[in-house]
Amino acid sequence: MLSRLATRSLASSRPLARSFATPQQSWSRGMKILAIFYSGGEAAKQEPRLLGTTENQLGIRDWLESQGHEYIVSESKEGPNSDLAKHIVDAEVVITTPFHPGYLTRDLLNTAKNLKLCLTAGVGSDHVDLIAASEKNIDVLEVTGSNVTSVAEHVVMNILLLVRNFVPAHEMIERGDWQVSDIARAAFDLEGKTVGTIGAGRIGYRVLERLTPFDTKEHLYYDFASLPAEAEKKVRARRVADLKDMVSQCDVVTVNAPLHEGTRGLVNADLLKHFKKGAYLVNTARGAICDRDAVAAALKSGHLSGYAGDVWNVQPAPKDHPWRTMKNPLGGGNGMTPHYSGTTLDAQARYAAGTKAILENYFKGKAQKPEDTIVKDGKIFSKAYGAK
Ligand code: NAD
Repeated sequence: MLSRLATRSLASSRPLARSFATPQQSWSRGMKILAIFYSGGEAAKQEPRLLGTTENQLGIRDWLESQGHEYIVSESKEGPNSDLAKHIVDAEVVITTPFHPGYLTRDLLNTAKNLKLCLTAGVGSDHVDLIAASEKNIDVLEVTGSNVTSVAEHVVMNILLLVRNFVPAHEMIERGDWQVSDIARAAFDLEGKTVGTIGAGRIGYRVLERLTPFDTKEHLYYDFASLPAEAEKKVRARRVADLKDMVSQCDVVTVNAPLHEGTRGLVNADLLKHFKKGAYLVNTARGAICDRDAVAAALKSGHLSGYAGDVWNVQPAPKDHPWRTMKNPLGGGNGMTPHYSGTTLDAQARYAAGTKAILENYFKGKAQKPEDTIVKDGKIFSKAYGAK
């Protein structure tokens, strides 16, 4: 794995920032920054805008090293011999992404002697044990908003491809077959359907905005907080206080809430019983919000007509994960992809810039944006993760 480990330390030829800073200033210290990204292989060599890879390293290596910091980048994240386990021991900052999550468990955080900041390059910090981080006074930040439009577009695409039975239609064409009735028997219009979102924050609301021109029947949402009346009106949304009640009215349900103890396994066998028979479920939030086996069983029985999304309870998903191959009784209804909805090239540019801005604030001791702050001063700070 060491061959994949891209590390150039302070020993490189660049001058140390220490030479022009007073010892008291935190930004003057050379610190160890560990980043866990996936290896982008040939694609990342050919496409420098694939910033969230071990090859392109968010484009911040030169900037970090010019200030005397040590930047360790690796994809190795699992087990006691991983680079994550080895380097977290003395790193001050750990950068991870939700796409190749370095799971920052309590056990791992307990080994971290200098860690002050866990920084998610993207949105969604559930791969960090937030309670353990707050107990250890480690701040957790993410680049809020950086990929919410990217994900909202993906949700709309997933809804359309399920409702219109797109995937089996395309597969038929690739096979060389042509039998329109086999596809049309399970294809519908989105117009006139009721769509509900679990979570109506940045992504959930953008999904409703983008669905409004489709002349859907009604939009429902289930969230801790009400949207302002004007915002509800704009997207024809009605809040439903009880989740079972909401899903029982929906033709399509989309999950757009963070993963935390209140949402883990929220869409389970019991809740699925309350879905309309033949409803569609789209989840680009986090895999573990939906119960793996209950979803696979509901699709197999036809209780759900379709399930689509890009997030998995473990990433990378094992080869035999049932969501890779599950189908409805007509042989369709699966719109799963690897986790990429929030990592379009546009999104990567935004979360790389946002990561740099957060690091800059950290080096200079400047306040971070409240909306980027998940854990601060020993407390969960973000309302979306349950802060009061
Ligand atoms: P956000 O904070 O703007 O909105 C989340 C909303 O969920 C909030 O309104 C919050 O009140 C609500 N919520 C929290 N717990 C809830 C619960 N138990 N029941 C109902 N609602 C609840 O966040 P966002 O930017 O919209 O992102 C939402 C999530 O989407 C992220 O946390 C992340 O897990 C996921 N995400 C996925 C990708 C991807 O690439 N697939 C990219 C970005 C974000």
